[in-house]
Amino acid sequence: MRKKIVAGNWKMNLDAAESQKLIEELKSQSLAANVTVAVAPPFVHLSSAVSQTSDSSIGVIAQNMHQAKSGAFTGEVSSSMLKSIGVHTVLLGHSERRAYFHETDALLAEKVDAALADGLQLIFCFGEELAERKSNTHFDVVTHQLTEGLFHLTAAQWENIVLAYEPVWAIGTGETASPAQAQEMHAHIRSVLAAKYDAHLAQGVSVLYGGSVKPANAQELFSQADVDGGLIGGASLNAADFAAIVNAF
Ligand code: PEP
Repeated sequence: MRKKIVAGNWKMNLDAAESQKLIEELKSQSLAANVTVAVAPPFVHLSSAVSQTSDSSIGVIAQNMHQAKSGAFTGEVSSSMLKSIGVHTVLLGHSERRAYFHETDALLAEKVDAALADGLQLIFCFGEELAERKSNTHFDVVTHQLTEGLFHLTAAQWENIVLAYEPVWAIGTGETASPAQAQEMHAHIRSVLAAKYDAHLAQGVSVLYGGSVKPANAQELFSQADVDGGLIGGASLNAADFAAIVNAF
């Protein structure tokens, strides 16, 4: 079922004390009750974030996971490890994972399967690069990423999936897609979903926008018909800014 969601991706930021402080600051903000709010701290802070948020409505999300259940994969973390500390949602396919860690569509499809098989929910990220938008191939790129990463799934499996359209040229750059550009792409995403599955599924999936969302632009972005919220990077590291984005709905 489609929900309003704002999730903060902390990336590789904040030490333990800073992480705890930010969560306390977030808990002291008044956050709109009709919005699902979550934060994605680095792995090492997940456990304390789960216990710190247990008396609040703030959810905790992992930024990544490995596709195998366990084994000789030094430095990696599995879905069952996340579940064992009370983390039930994972981000997959973030453009930084795709670009810097060479995560391909095929690998992401494996990660998607592993996460869903273990009962995790996921936020699947995708989006075009600047050159692809300039050459007017952005719709095709997004269709391809969805097809390769997710279209092997059954309709029932989509119950556990949230999409995050994040044009790479807008991530961490200060440049935001215009509300019209976001709406146009989100409508495209729903039309591709409707063609592959059906209109009911396409209308039921929550589709977030990510890319330099700030208090100043959140309201206009979130007021677009097919935008169900945001995945927030930089602005999620400041409790007042993040709360203002949540409350922009
Ligand atoms: C992100 O990392 O998903 C993101 C959208 O970052 P920023 O808000 O900083 O552009």
